[in-house]
Amino acid sequence: MDFASKIRLIKDFPRPGINFRDITTLLQDGPAFGQVVNALADLCREMKPDIIACPEARGFVLGAPLAYVLGKGLVLMRKPGKLPGKTIACQYQLEYGTDALEVHEGAIRPGQRVLLVDDILATGGTMAAAAKLIQQCGGQVAGIAFLLELEGLKGIEKLGNHQVVTLIKCE
Ligand code: 5GP
Repeated sequence: MDFASKIRLIKDFPRPGINFRDITTLLQDGPAFGQVVNALADLCREMKPDIIACPEARGFVLGAPLAYVLGKGLVLMRKPGKLPGKTIACQYQLEYGTDALEVHEGAIRPGQRVLLVDDILATGGTMAAAAKLIQQCGGQVAGIAFLLELEGLKGIEKLGNHQVVTLIKCE
């Protein structure tokens, strides 16, 4: 299936000059959504993850079914103030200012192999922070999976030596 054709491009969102890749059109297509999850699972099985972790919010949409298909647990990486228990945080740089991701203390056990999942690799800032947070927790990044990579933004360069798999690549 041509997954790329299922993703809608919306010009000038959220700001003029940004071409936003809207994955809601793919998610609305049951067979396409199912095939995307199965294809990602096939690419990630050999990473032998113990657990899946995904950043808020679109990462949840792929992380949850992927964890289910792989028979693994799921760790939610959330924006500050959203998780109810004690958390560990990692800050990262945005175009203007900073943001952070948090996980619950104890959600990742030392030495656990963690598969990180998000919908889109753009500048790589979000996923680089997510990987750092896993390491801060004592976990090992088993690999990183994306639905789509925007190659022109060179986000991959922020992900160091981690094993990265991506279903769709575009400029
Ligand atoms: P990065 O940190 O790599 O610059 O941006 C990746 C994060 O921003 C991901 O969590 C992703 O959901 C979101 N993101 C950035 N650009 C887009 C886009 O064009 N479409 C969608 N759906 N998400 C985007």
